[in-house]
Amino acid sequence: MSIPASNGKVVLITGINGYIGSKIGLDALNQGYSIRGTSRSVASTHALLAGPFAPYSDRIEIFEVPDITAPKAFDAAVKGVHGIFHVASPVNFALNTWDTVVVPAIGGTNTLLTSALEQAGSQLEAVVITSSVAALWNRGSPEGYVTTEADENTWAVEAAKNVDADGIPEAQRGGIMYAASKAAALRAVQEFRDTRKPPFSIITIHPSIVIGPPVLVPSSPSKLNETLKPLYSIFAGLTGVLPTRYGSGATIDVRDVSRVHLWAYENHTIANGEKYIASSGIGPNQGIADILRAQYPERKNIPIGDPETGYLFKKDANGRIVEISHVPGTSRISGQKAVEATGKEWIGFPQSILDTAKALESLNGED
Ligand code: NAP
Repeated sequence: MSIPASNGKVVLITGINGYIGSKIGLDALNQGYSIRGTSRSVASTHALLAGPFAPYSDRIEIFEVPDITAPKAFDAAVKGVHGIFHVASPVNFALNTWDTVVVPAIGGTNTLLTSALEQAGSQLEAVVITSSVAALWNRGSPEGYVTTEADENTWAVEAAKNVDADGIPEAQRGGIMYAASKAAALRAVQEFRDTRKPPFSIITIHPSIVIGPPVLVPSSPSKLNETLKPLYSIFAGLTGVLPTRYGSGATIDVRDVSRVHLWAYENHTIANGEKYIASSGIGPNQGIADILRAQYPERKNIPIGDPETGYLFKKDANGRIVEISHVPGTSRISGQKAVEATGKEWIGFPQSILDTAKALESLNGED
């Protein structure tokens, strides 16, 4: 396979082995960048290096960073890079303590930014940070509220500190800790920018719940990232009841998440200091079930739920749902700013569902 000519630039991606990090890495390679990737364990990058990254082996370096909170952890990896995508952060809703979720998110952000400032060199143009809609969205916002980049999550950090005092059940703590981790990490970014005044641009990207085809399908369903698991469990008929939605319930395709990260780096002079939400609209699990039942009639275990309820839809001439949107008056997340900035619409939710399911067809069973 012939690979694109080198564009002479090197970008660093933390968490290269993850769902989003590996997509940004592959897209960067496809666009002529050389990449550096960090991971807590080099072994967790082997399948990527032997698989989708293999044609680019001469343009890839992997750095093992076992503890992203350790001072100077990223010093070696940042030296000489032109851009940084800070993607690594805990995304595991089974982790439900401040120390395992919030501490690495804040510490990793501070460590990375400090290494970038002190060790990268003057060629560094921009650091793009993968934040989340969770850092902006407020639980219990009024019906009809539209969350934008102007919002700030004001509930999660306090809620996470008080889970014991408030008697929050174990099963709900992971989601609260995750939201707190993203809200606190975003504050750390803002504080760093205000106090250290770095010469490079800093941009934060705020995806809603990410689905879409992974660049590497894992060897077993249990190794899927956290936000592909509900879609897979519907697709594989592992659940008779539709999973409850995460957070705001909005979704975005991983291909668009990667595109906006790279756009932000390449357009950092206009994007510097900005937040960009990446969200195509509501992504109800009922819609996933309805679309997959129509596409895979032979899969009799896909849950039925309440077909075609809870969302608005358009169908094509064959009766297939091709567009899903929120019921007017219900709360939603706006991804309009990034659409206007990048000049490109989001991949629609129905397309994302079908492309994700297609990619996961080869997976079998529960683990
Ligand atoms: P993922 O596949 O689980 O990837 C997470 C990455 O972070 C992995 O490389 C993981 O490495 C690393 N990581 C996790 N905990 C860590 C820790 N304590 N110390 C160092 N590295 C750690 O999840 P993802 O969906 O791609 O998420 C990547 C980023 O996107 C995260 O910042 C997440 O908050 C953000 N995001 C995700 C979504 C979504 O819906 N998926 C939405 C908004 C924002 P290991 O293999 O070593 O654990």
